[in-house]
Amino acid sequence: GVVLAIETSCDDTAVAVVAGGRVAANVVRSQAALHAPFGGVVPEVAARAHDAAMVEVVEEALAESGIDAHEVEAIAVTKGPGLPGSLVVGVGAALGLAVGLDRPLIGVDHMEGHLYAATIEGPVALPALSLLVSGGHSELVVIEAPFRYRLLGRTRDDAAGEAFDKVARILGLGFPGGPAIEAAARDGRPDAIRFARALRNQGFDLSFSGIKTEVARYLEGARAAEVADVAASFQEAVVDVLVAKLERALESERVETVVIGGGVAANGPLRERVAELARARGVGAHIPARSLCADNAAMIAAAGAARLVAGEHAVDGLDIEPTRSLVGGDDH
Ligand code: ATP
Ligand code: FE
Repeated sequence: GVVLAIETSCDDTAVAVVAGGRVAANVVRSQAALHAPFGGVVPEVAARAHDAAMVEVVEEALAESGIDAHEVEAIAVTKGPGLPGSLVVGVGAALGLAVGLDRPLIGVDHMEGHLYAATIEGPVALPALSLLVSGGHSELVVIEAPFRYRLLGRTRDDAAGEAFDKVARILGLGFPGGPAIEAAARDGRPDAIRFARALRNQGFDLSFSGIKTEVARYLEGARAAEVADVAASFQEAVVDVLVAKLERALESERVETVVIGGGVAANGPLRERVAELARARGVGAHIPARSLCADNAAMIAAAGAARLVAGEHAVDGLDIEPTRSLVGGDDH
């Protein structure tokens, strides 16, 4: 079927058209420049910018896909978790399209969307072990069957992406921090500084708030710290913990495949190490294209299409769910 999806959970206005599992259009209009002067996302500014961009981004996605609006068979939209004001704009637009085109409307969980990014390149054999690492979440989840998730562990404080963003700010590398740290780290030595690996050898929970303090303290004490070395060593510590957790989970869980998702899954060293681990353990690895790791609407279309096939839809309306994630439980 043809699914048009809208994603506005944070600061990207994203619209995608997916036809028979193929991504026909995946438009992401970033608001990054708008929020940059504030050093973070301002919710009211985000909502207003989504509203201002929406019609144009929908039209752009349809034009790029070459698919006529009347060929769209269902509308999918992120219902949460995310910023309430931003979610309301996306859901309102999706409802308008669904009513206007007389098509079913499917509400999609943003974190389930991040998981479904992996399915865009091919079917994922279940059960699967997934590592969801983004700006607001970091969790290890077993996908037991379609739509059946079991939380193994989650961060007790900051998300992995949040740690990248905060350390990038400390290092003066700008926002978003993940890509900036990865780029800076290319010229540095990952073994230059030994940052602590919190909870590495203990259960499945994660913790990333300590390392940013450690980086800040290190910079105060260092005479001439090499930014590249600090970035590379920080990245190494985070990737090492994430891969160690996956490895421990593979020892106790019988799964067919490993799946990664969320913005941090775009990280090169993490992608390499996860692929390596899966190879060594004889399980499959699903590592979505970088453009599908960060927030986008193609992943929402993929999850929405799966739910539609399973018989789910809502035509009359849809409530946003700003704080609940069906994959990992409560948001932070
Ligand atoms: P959530 O999905 O939890 O609601 P979000 O949607 O804001 O949060 P994403 O868009 O999925 O988060 O991911 C953004 C995060 O990913 C940012 O924290 C960013 O720094 C991080 N990130 C992006 N690219 C990379 C990279 N190459 N390496 C590490 N981190 C990265
Ligand atoms: Fe996200």
